[in-house]
Amino acid sequence: MDKISVSVRIRPLNRDEECSGESWRVSDNTIIYKASSSQNAISYCLDNVFGPEADTTTVYEKTAKDTVLSVIQGFNGTLFAYGQTSSGKTHTMRGATGEGIVPRSVRDIFAKIETVAGREYLLRVSYMEIYNEQIRDLLRPSKCQLQVHEDPYRGVYVSGLHEEIVSSADQVLQLMESGELNRHVGETNMNLRSSRSHTIFRMVVESREYVPAADADAQDQTCDAVMVSTLNLVDLAGSERVRKTGAEGARLKEGVHINKSLSVLGTVINKLSEGGDKLGYIPYRDSKLTRILQPALGGNARTSVIACITPSSLHADETKGTLQFACRAK
Ligand code: ADP
Ligand code: MG
Repeated sequence: MDKISVSVRIRPLNRDEECSGESWRVSDNTIIYKASSSQNAISYCLDNVFGPEADTTTVYEKTAKDTVLSVIQGFNGTLFAYGQTSSGKTHTMRGATGEGIVPRSVRDIFAKIETVAGREYLLRVSYMEIYNEQIRDLLRPSKCQLQVHEDPYRGVYVSGLHEEIVSSADQVLQLMESGELNRHVGETNMNLRSSRSHTIFRMVVESREYVPAADADAQDQTCDAVMVSTLNLVDLAGSERVRKTGAEGARLKEGVHINKSLSVLGTVINKLSEGGDKLGYIPYRDSKLTRILQPALGGNARTSVIACITPSSLHADETKGTLQFACRAK
């Protein structure tokens, strides 16, 4: 399994786009810009391309499931939904009726650990939002300026972030719902806020060898190593470029932060995918997003990017930007 996989999901045209044409056609794992000339075709080849007919189950199985299950085996995993606002990121990650990648991942993790003999598990969940380079704890919304710290013992961590110990998938999904509600406190325009912030849903899976009470003496001989791994499911801020004209004040500031953090993310993933000894310097510290995710991006981590797009010709330029990001990540 590749350490970094990059996929594209094309959503159906929406009502506003119905009378615009579709700019893209799909051939296996390649997406091709229809208006390009045959000699000079603009095309992008990825690990998977999902057309409008693909359901989230298919997307989950091909892009997320292996990463999710490898978290149980001690690997870190991170999944990103990237794309302009309204391209289908939240539909893919959260879904409307428990069918998104987050609920599926959570259910799969609980189901899987049931089947592992000889280990006991402790699962913790946190949920945070990054807005204007400030980290807010969605499970404890009064904590709105969390800091990232690093020490030799814990590595990189978000100081003060609440982690809830969880024992069922339903409990996790309820937590997520309440986190979503917290996200909108004081917001007059919920969609605006959600398109301008990144959210990271995180599940920490900790396990150790299980020693039955009768064998308590044997505990001294067993290796008491605790295995800890983390799954991060990230719904990114809308990738549309903020035009220099038109945006002012707060909007412009938001846009600058978003553009910067997405471009740092692209650079980090690009460096990681080049891999090997050529890695060199990786600019994790250049944005809060990559800083927070640093422990779950390098090393033995598995990363999956789902670039979400609309097929509409109305947005062909933004879509090209998204596909360029995707190809750079590969
Ligand atoms: P984003 O989070 O990228 O801003 P959303 O996920 O909110 O976009 O999607 C915008 C709208 O399009 C929503 O109403 C959503 O239900 C719908 N939508 C997105 N992707 C799909 C899809 N693959 N199939 C059907 N509807 C979709
Ligand atoms: Mg969204």
